[in-house]
Amino acid sequence: MAWRVARCLEVLREQFNDAFPDRSTASDGGIGDAAHASRSSDHNPWHKVGGIGVVTARDFTHDPANGMDIDRLTDELAASRDPRIKYLIANGLILDSRPGNNPWKWMPYTGANPHRKHFHISVVPELCDDDRPWNLPSVNTAPKHATEVDELTPEQDHMLRDIAQQLTGSRNAGEFPGWPSMVDGKTTLTPVDFIRFIDKHVVQLRAELGAMSETVRTLAGAIAGGNDFDADELVSRVAETVRRTIADATVNVDVNVQHGDGGANV
Ligand SMILES: [Zn+2]
Repeated sequence: MAWRVARCLEVLREQFNDAFPDRSTASDGGIGDAAHASRSSDHNPWHKVGGIGVVTARDFTHDPANGMDIDRLTDELAASRDPRIKYLIANGLILDSRPGNNPWKWMPYTGANPHRKHFHISVVPELCDDDRPWNLPSVNTAPKHATEVDELTPEQDHMLRDIAQQLTGSRNAGEFPGWPSMVDGKTTLTPVDFIRFIDKHVVQLRAELGAMSETVRTLAGAIAGGNDFDADELVSRVAETVRRTIADATVNVDVNVQHGDGGANV
């Protein structure tokens, strides 16, 4: 009879294998043995997908010396509330996600095997082939693809380091020193820091220029008295001068400071 293990359980196995490469698999198991076959068990491929039997349970060996502490790992699985979990059994306890079974609570397990040398996980058949990684804080290590940097050609490696340097200021992965600021030469900025710096200062400058324009307008009005002196003309000239100054100061970054209310462009 054709059978296979649920994909989500294969993903879990791969995550454990990657995180704990020396872990013992002495009590691991997918397909049921003769004892399982004689009774109802998710280790039997009773669930059918496309005519093929799918095993919706797996056992993982307790091997704390090599990272596989089933006490910790089953607690992390329980905390994840992953909807793929049907039930977990470990250390004389069972946690069942289904309504009517004290959902998501560890309860005493009264089965023959208290599961101290391995833990058991059964998954919900409808979600058994959902192959998203499991959310386990102590297992979620760096993605294994990180080592593929070694497989790049020298040209590719050089190109990636060039890009990294432009973004982070360093050619080395994991370093993020940023670039020295042209303002004081000490502060270091990444391009993202720089964009946020400009954005923040544009907001401040807008407010300052708005206040300055008001002051100038008031002064000009006082000077002009009842004469035909054009206060608006003076304000717009001041604003234009300030605008040019900002354009110089921001190293050709186009800071288009425009009043939303249709007032003067400054
Ligand atoms: Zn089992």
